[in-house]
Amino acid sequence: MIKNIYTNGINGITGSLSPASAEAAPRRSCTALVHGRQASGERGGRYDSQARRGCERGKTMKTVIMGAGAMGSLFGGLLAHSGEEVWLVDIWKEHIDAIRSKGLTIEEKGTTRNISAKATSSITSIGKADLVLYFVKTYHTQKAVSDSLALEKDDTLFLTLQNGLGNEETICQQINRKKVILGVTGQGATLLGPGSIRHAGWGKTYVGELGRKITDRIDRVAQMFRKAGIDTEVSTRIHDLVWEKLFVNAGLNALAAITGLKNGQILDYPETLRLMESLVSETTEVAKRKGIRIQGNPLDRVKAVIEATRENRCSMGQDLDRKRGTEIDAINGAIVREAKQLGIPVPYNQMITDLIKVIEKAF
Ligand code: NAD
Repeated sequence: MIKNIYTNGINGITGSLSPASAEAAPRRSCTALVHGRQASGERGGRYDSQARRGCERGKTMKTVIMGAGAMGSLFGGLLAHSGEEVWLVDIWKEHIDAIRSKGLTIEEKGTTRNISAKATSSITSIGKADLVLYFVKTYHTQKAVSDSLALEKDDTLFLTLQNGLGNEETICQQINRKKVILGVTGQGATLLGPGSIRHAGWGKTYVGELGRKITDRIDRVAQMFRKAGIDTEVSTRIHDLVWEKLFVNAGLNALAAITGLKNGQILDYPETLRLMESLVSETTEVAKRKGIRIQGNPLDRVKAVIEATRENRCSMGQDLDRKRGTEIDAINGAIVREAKQLGIPVPYNQMITDLIKVIEKAF
């Protein structure tokens, strides 16, 4: 079976391959659901023990979402609905005003619910946070991180669930890496308008420590997500999972965006099929050389995801259609950068990056 994270690697445009796990999990102790290896007694240091004390007290985590667009509103809305203290932060004032005055509307599977959530464009009104979650587009991460510095205290955790490569590095330029955790999500969402989103995909979410340890603080984040109905596991191979999702994004997004095709049509034409295979094959080579542990055959999985989302137009395609910037630098552009450092030629990724860049410049 295809892992769900791939399905929504194409940004929530989807139907999901898996059933929703929308039922909130019962409150439980800080026991890990672990992906990658069995939970051991391995535990972290100072930040971890602070998080453990909070967990033992059954405290909620004050969570601030930087970027309350489609995904930020989804995670923020679900967390708020489950009783967590959540702040949605966005520079889009109309959206924030709508959430403040009418609540956040989440449309899913033909039903609509309205959730009351704290929302602001002014970070200074929030105070300090236990968890900061970045859900801006990758080209806005640096600014969002600097804006979020006012939220930091000794044991604040900083998490990214954004797509692509480089988010961890961008965050760590401004935040001590001991406080940074990483994730990847198969959840998907689409913005409908100010104060309103559609929940469009229900794949699994993985979170993990950069140092691959299983810590109480990472358990605690996963537990909070599960309680909100977000199917989440702790992974000890979170970097591998980031790359696994990247295979789909790299093989599909820019190609579908440029050609104007729906996902499934990429498989229907021998020309686009060949191009997709070359993009994935180059990406796989770079991943292997970087020591990423790849499970199974990436190309088979990419094809399966494309097939499963046949009727969708990928998010990068939607971005180009609306003459908006894309996350190309974090996807194919990032592969080009990695390949350069390794001395590996990646002409297909280079070409597709250049093409997207020129289209963006010509808007
Ligand atoms: P989006 O464009 O809907 O939302 C991003 C929001 O960030 C916007 O509302 C924007 O106003 C806001 N923003 C920009 N700069 C900001 C700042 N300095 N402070 C606060 N807010 C700021 O994007 P999205 O679709 O939610 O995607 C967010 C990230 O999640 C991307 O990296 C994307 O690849 C990833 N992702 C998306 C999906 C999906 O289904 N949409 C699925 C998985 C991963």
